[in-house]
Amino acid sequence: MTALVDAPATSVLDDAQAQLSAAIEVLGYDQSMHRMLAVPRREVTVSVPLRKDDGSVEVYVGHRVQHNFSRGPAKGGLRYSPDVTLDEVRALAMWMTWKCALLDVPYGGAKGGIRIDPREHSAAELERVTRRYTSEISPLIGPERDIPAPDIGTDERTMAWMMDTYSVQQGHTVLGVTTGKPVGLGGSLGRATATSRGVVHVALAALTDRGIAPAGATAAVQGFGKVGRYAARFLAEAGLRVLAVSDQYGAVASPTGLDVVALEKHVDETGSVVGFAGGDVLPGDALLELDVDLLVPAAVEGVLHAGNAARVKAKVIVEGANGPTTPEADEILRSAGVLVAPDILANAGGVVVSYFEWVQANQAFWWSADEVEARLATRMDQAWQHVNAHARRLGVPLRSAATALAVERVAQAHQQRGLYP
Ligand code: GLU
Repeated sequence: MTALVDAPATSVLDDAQAQLSAAIEVLGYDQSMHRMLAVPRREVTVSVPLRKDDGSVEVYVGHRVQHNFSRGPAKGGLRYSPDVTLDEVRALAMWMTWKCALLDVPYGGAKGGIRIDPREHSAAELERVTRRYTSEISPLIGPERDIPAPDIGTDERTMAWMMDTYSVQQGHTVLGVTTGKPVGLGGSLGRATATSRGVVHVALAALTDRGIAPAGATAAVQGFGKVGRYAARFLAEAGLRVLAVSDQYGAVASPTGLDVVALEKHVDETGSVVGFAGGDVLPGDALLELDVDLLVPAAVEGVLHAGNAARVKAKVIVEGANGPTTPEADEILRSAGVLVAPDILANAGGVVVSYFEWVQANQAFWWSADEVEARLATRMDQAWQHVNAHARRLGVPLRSAATALAVERVAQAHQQRGLYP
């Protein structure tokens, strides 16, 4: 399997299925259980007609896949990207099921997506697309059914529009239908940075586990969006030297470490890391192959694959993105002794604080930022310990241990409920 751009449209789902098959084997489950967990419980594809600002109408394709709800309502982000496919959404929904189970938040997994490039649209067009998509999927969502959140290409504004559209249809305000909303509108303090905080909790634990002192260790971060940006900031605050970061337009590097605060300012002013005066240009995917202690892929799926995994020099990889490492790359990295903290553990901070947001919204009682952060830290640290101990016990990589723990929880819930009819 090669880079995401060369890969067939089904490759991400193949990766997710391969990880499930491996977990089924570790757990010794039969074919019936495997079949139950391999297919989504429910999925919908909708047309999303958009009246553009110039008066013309364009029609986009949207999906919502609910992979599982054995442990509670489905939960997962909504992605706006020209690369969205149904198979990608299926894979991402399955990963959400495992992520929620692993962190023991009482949800199943879901994901949504619209095949649209948000960079090509005005805010007014994005609002209309969001409202129409929400209206199309509204029979499926709700605080007790399926709770969307931001993902690539969507943000707190998108969640506010979704919540408003759903609420107008219901005839009353339903704050718990989405998470990742603006703080003034039922959002939680700490949600915007939660995924990155979780990534850094796991990164510090993983480095320490490998005998690398975080202070002074070196790092590279791929992606400078909702996850990579704050991950780079918190890593620098923890004393690491962030040698390189990239975004969809290019990469910058400094052998002595980037000034992340100055870089954030540059990105706010220009929209990209490109052109940052405090670093040198880094070509292509060279960032992934830098000689660093820690690599944080925080962009898209499939970036570490059979074609480049052998050239990775990082000692620890912490997956800020969903599905950045293919199963072939996992095997190569394992043989090379690279520690990979898997997505369903490493980037779970986002959905953990989404859960806190939903709890707060349902109770109409708001927590302080300190309370959110303390509870997040406890959950991330516990999950890390649990997965690490399980991996040692079984003698398997962290991903196999994490997936097996999660699949076991979901399977157990399914068995306890029984099959209807
Ligand atoms: N999109 C995020 C993820 O992949 C967050 C999902 C959520 O908060 O529901 O984990």
